[in-house]
Amino acid sequence: MRIDVTLAAAAARLSESGSESPRLDAELLLGEVMGRDRTWFYTWGDRDLESEAGAEGVARFEALLARRAEGHPVAHLLGRREFYGLMLRCSPATLIPRPDTEVMVECALELAEAPEGTLLDLGTGTGAIALAFARHRPQWQVLGVDLIEEAVQLARDNAEHLAIPNVEFRRSDWFSAVPETGFALVTANPPYLADDDPHLALGDVRFEPRSALVARQQGLADFLHLIEAAPRHLAAGGHLMLEHGLAQGKEVREALRAGGFLEVETLEDLGGRERITLGRIG
Ligand code: GLN
Repeated sequence: MRIDVTLAAAAARLSESGSESPRLDAELLLGEVMGRDRTWFYTWGDRDLESEAGAEGVARFEALLARRAEGHPVAHLLGRREFYGLMLRCSPATLIPRPDTEVMVECALELAEAPEGTLLDLGTGTGAIALAFARHRPQWQVLGVDLIEEAVQLARDNAEHLAIPNVEFRRSDWFSAVPETGFALVTANPPYLADDDPHLALGDVRFEPRSALVARQQGLADFLHLIEAAPRHLAAGGHLMLEHGLAQGKEVREALRAGGFLEVETLEDLGGRERITLGRIG
């Protein structure tokens, strides 16, 4: 069968099984099997799939497609996901890095005006925020922590294969193993969904760890803890930055103000939705 015809059929199948990006998914999976960039398919789509990929390649593609049709995220099938220009290894042990979270990196980079400083990333997962920041601020020291040992290993593995030296990863339950104080910036994308959020039953999140998604008190519990504890670890004038759900901006702003933070403001993501709230400690 022709490659373009195969891709169209695969996309139709993935669309039916609920993927929101069926064509892209099909191209990424076939690209993986054939060792080709997606753009190759646009030039060579009229070629025969089996002569290009071999019977074994066709079978591998079929197997990946079947897993995707069952709902497994493409990032899990490929074992990697791009975030802020970095190719990160990922696994079912952590949240899959999301484009929304790139806004957090932008914001942290803007705030990091000093030539040197320290950033702490809480619940780092793959290490996405910590690594993207560290890559763009090589003079800064970055510490990323996570409760899950597998996540810490994964983040270290990412730092190593990306050759980013100015970052350290450690196991810690939020601040429990962070004795250091004086961070200029603290970032966190904590779990913030309520346990009855209907979103949990849809798409890729079904295959992500609940511990990275769901928090008590309608998703607010971890924010409240972080806001209470962060001032002891921040330098004077340091910032705490939190990613939150679209409807949580008001509560997070109020908690930050009540916790003594100044200049509390919420930033919008690329789609104009409230996504990240930050405050400065006096
Ligand atoms: N933004 C994620 C989602 O909606 C949730 C991430 C989180 O809880 N930190 O799938």
